[in-house]
This record gives sequence, structure tokens and C-alpha cells, in this order.
Amino acid sequence: MDLILKNVHAADPQTGLDCVTDIAVKDGKIVKIGDCGGSAERVIDCTGLYAVPGLFDMHVHFRDPGLTYKEDIFTGAAAAKAGGVTGVLLMPNSKPACDTPKTVKYILDKGAQTGINVYTSACITEGMSGGGLCDYEALKNAGVFAITDDGRPVENAELMRQALELSVTNGMTVLSHCEDLKIINGGIINKGEVSKALGVKGMDRASEDYITARETALAASCGAHIHICHVSTYGSVNIIRAAKRDGVNVTCETAPHYFTYTDEKLYSRDADYRMSPPLRTEKDRAAIEEALLDGTIDCIITDHAPHAAEEKADFLKAPNGVVGLETSLAATLTKLYHGGKCGIGKIAELMSVNPRRVLGLPPVKIEEGAECELCIFDPEAEWTVEPEKLHSKSKNTVFKGETFKGRAVYTICRGKIVFDRKEDENVT
Ligand SMILES: [Zn+2]
Ligand SMILES: [Zn+2]
Repeated sequence: MDLILKNVHAADPQTGLDCVTDIAVKDGKIVKIGDCGGSAERVIDCTGLYAVPGLFDMHVHFRDPGLTYKEDIFTGAAAAKAGGVTGVLLMPNSKPACDTPKTVKYILDKGAQTGINVYTSACITEGMSGGGLCDYEALKNAGVFAITDDGRPVENAELMRQALELSVTNGMTVLSHCEDLKIINGGIINKGEVSKALGVKGMDRASEDYITARETALAASCGAHIHICHVSTYGSVNIIRAAKRDGVNVTCETAPHYFTYTDEKLYSRDADYRMSPPLRTEKDRAAIEEALLDGTIDCIITDHAPHAAEEKADFLKAPNGVVGLETSLAATLTKLYHGGKCGIGKIAELMSVNPRRVLGLPPVKIEEGAECELCIFDPEAEWTVEPEKLHSKSKNTVFKGETFKGRAVYTICRGKIVFDRKEDENVT
């Protein structure tokens, strides 16, 4: 045996597994669940720890190629591993944007060296220009299964309709960043009391709601699947809930900051609290939380968006975005599990099972014979977020100084321990 995890609380909503047991691993596979004795190359006492299928973050920006002073595929993957994440889907707004098989190959080849599963989406329109559609067949042959112009909306609704129509036959998942730029009109934080008090231009929630409604209408008319990125408003939640009830094939995601914080954080005039869409109001925050619990929102993602400290220094001019891979599980455990809102199984659904299902990837399960891909965490570990200790190249976290309860301890991918908290703390 290569590895035995002793006395781990294994939880997998897909198989119904939810008990303290041992897990034995050999040649990358789970070979036994049950009493495994203690004879293996490595035996880890996991008393008090949970194991869930490795987390999958289907919305990250690794800035590679082209903007690697912010992040690269290796540092992004290091952040993922430290957060219990074994699979990521990269957004295509690198430099150049990922819209050709050549760029896809560069990303996937580099990703293959990280020890975790790195996938990339590609653009809907060439260079995210909003102009012509990309060559989806060529991109598909290069290994792409999802397309998006994330960072921007596809402003021309007819082009979006065409991409959705093609997705019905080419099997690609279309992901939409819902933001009407004319309504946004240069706004930098949520439009409301806080933007008024600060005297800065606001981002009207109608900007998000309007495009969410447009995308669900287009998907319904084509019989296509649409995935709505980073839902932040109660309006979007209501539109998606109604569309799902009507049988529209719509799925969606949100990020921990949207169910943890509100725009009151912006009173600090600190650009580390600025992202797109922005932190909203308590009414929105509560609606996002409710939608996670009732199944309207399918996935928790991070929208991990690294920016250099110099870029984030000016509150008004800083680019939007926050890092999140190393705090996502902790924030979710703290807010939802310790907040008494849901159990570990539901969190595994939101962070591990559903993202793979939405993207049509094979499920990762905790069962005998399955490839061993696990996030092992201590649900009771208390820790405070110190940005300088993050593995990401950029430190623009919205959770700086926050104390969380719960943290990834071991991350295992293809049977190999790719992150070990104790070892990591000795090195860094
Ligand atoms: Zn986006
Ligand atoms: Zn994004």
C-alpha cells in the first residue's frame, strides 16, 4: 500500500458515504475503504479531519500567458493546492487571450506539470473583441469544453445566441459574465448608499440582472445550456430560480465574498474590496445564501483574480478582482457549516460535485476503485488570513485579517499528496 489515511471522516454525497473510516491508496487509486490496518509506505492519522472529493474551482484567472507578474500557472496551482482544490478551469482573458489551439496547448502543457487538473476555457469571440466567433471545432480538438468572454459580456445578443446555438451541437458549455457595460458606465462599486456616501460612480444591479435575463431567454430559445458566472444580486437569483422552474437549462455560481460581505466594506476606500460584480447589500447577500441552500446556485467558485499591489494601491483606478483559492473552503465552512446553515455533504456538492457536473467532466468519487482525489480538512482549525503568507503571487484578498474556522490540511491528486500543511509551514 502506498498510503493509508487512518480514522478520517469521509463524506461523499454521490455515494452516501459519511462516516469515520480508513482509506487505502495504491497506484493512484482508492483500493479500500474500511479497516486498513497500518502497513503502508505512509500512514497518516486523520483523527478529527474530513475527506471530501477534491474541490473543483471552475472560475479562476491565472494570468498566464502574458500577465505573469500577477500570477502564473504554477503559482496559481500552488494556491489551489493550499486551498484543497484539485481541479481548476481557467478563464481566457490572458494576454494574448486564449482563442487559438496554440494558446490552449501552451496552457494545458504547463498545467500538466502542476500535479493537479488544469483545464482552460477559450473565448466566445476572437480576442474577446465582441467581433467574430472563434473556431470552436479547432478549440474543441485542442481540449476546450467551455467558452466565455469572462471579464466582459458578449455585448451583441445575436452573437451570444449564435454561440449558444452552436453549443447545442458542439457540446461546449457557455459561461456568461453578466454585465451591461452601458449601464455600468464607469461605476466602480455597488450603486447605492455607500457609493453615494463616497461620492463615486456606482454599478447598478440592473447591469447584472438585465444580462442574466437576456442569457436565460437566449438559452431557452435555443434549447441550450447557459452557465451564469458570479451571481451577486437578488434580482439575478430570482431570474435564475424562475428559469430553472420553467425548465430552462441554466446553472450558476457565486463566490464566498458575495455571501460573506456587503458593500459596507468599501467605506474603507480599499481597492482590495473591489471586484466585478461588486459586493452588494445585505438583501443581496442574504438572497445569495438562500439560493446556495435551496439549490438555485449550483457552485461556489472564487473568481480568483490576482493583481499586483501597485495596481491595487489607488482606490479609484485599481482593476477589479480579488484572489480567493486559499480562503474559499475556509470562508464557506465558517459561514455555512459553522453558521449552522448546512452540513459538509452540501459543501462538497457546491465545491466539488456540481462544478464537474456543470462542465460535463467525469465525477470524482470516494469509492473503491476510483482515482484518489481528495481534499482533507480540519473543520475546527482556527486561523487568521495573513496576505503575505498566501501562495498566490498577488495578495489582493478581500479576507485579509479575517479569522476563519476550517482549513485544508492535505490535498491529494492522482493518489499523490500535492499539499501537506505541516510540510508547507516548515518551508514557508
Ligand atoms: Zn467575470
Ligand atoms: Zn472572472
